[in-house]
Amino acid sequence: MNRKYRKTIIAGNWKMHKTASQTKVFAERLKGALPRVKRCSIVLCVPYVDIPAAVKILKDSRVAVGAQNLHWEASGPFTGEISAAMLADLDVKYVIIGHSERREYFGESDLIINKKIHAALNAGLRPILCVGEDLEQRDLGVTLEFISYQLKAALAGVSSEEMRRVVIAYEPIWAIGTGNTATPEQAGEVCAAIRGVLRKLYGARIARSTTIQYGGSMNETNAEALLRQEDVDGGLIGTAALDTEKFLQIIQTANQD
Ligand code: PEP
Repeated sequence: MNRKYRKTIIAGNWKMHKTASQTKVFAERLKGALPRVKRCSIVLCVPYVDIPAAVKILKDSRVAVGAQNLHWEASGPFTGEISAAMLADLDVKYVIIGHSERREYFGESDLIINKKIHAALNAGLRPILCVGEDLEQRDLGVTLEFISYQLKAALAGVSSEEMRRVVIAYEPIWAIGTGNTATPEQAGEVCAAIRGVLRKLYGARIARSTTIQYGGSMNETNAEALLRQEDVDGGLIGTAALDTEKFLQIIQTANQD
């Protein structure tokens, strides 16, 4: 991470875990034990139904609440869906877009992801855009080309001004929920390549100031080495973010000098 130019962001992605009652317990504990975080921002991306409880408890803390998805239309006949404005109205600040589980299990195409990025930005939210290769792509040596394509597609039509609010999460699919964390070198290489793509798309200043997280089995023991990479500016954390003590340890690590 390079704090001179950009923010370190530690974000938890709870996926479909925890009820509203469990969220209250977690948020109280997190708030109560949170160190003075001067050097990183913290985000907790919870299921939709847990948002009010999380926002209420974390209101005056340094933890921002995020969502894990949205619908790209402002309103309409989309049964079961939630719009960006509905999230913003609940004081949600961030939203994960393009997570590989949404791409794989819910058929989200690059076009849909691009629409969701625009919807998030138009509502004043900060999208956390997930990109990452699968094992076959890594083995074939096409990781960087594939991620470059994903970035260009997802960010089509996003202005330089809007780009200041976008966070990128590099999440190799083979590392998510598997315990097979990318090595710090692998994470560092791809995050640097992502910054290279942003430089071509938006210029050096924006590329330098964009937060690029690593996600994929990051935990309290491997976070330090991953975060020591120059181009890794934080983490998007699934499993380890379900446990307050582990999540707090990762925050402590990111908060170190
Ligand atoms: C994720 O779902 O974004 C993730 C990184 O999960 P995990 O930390 O469990 O690999």
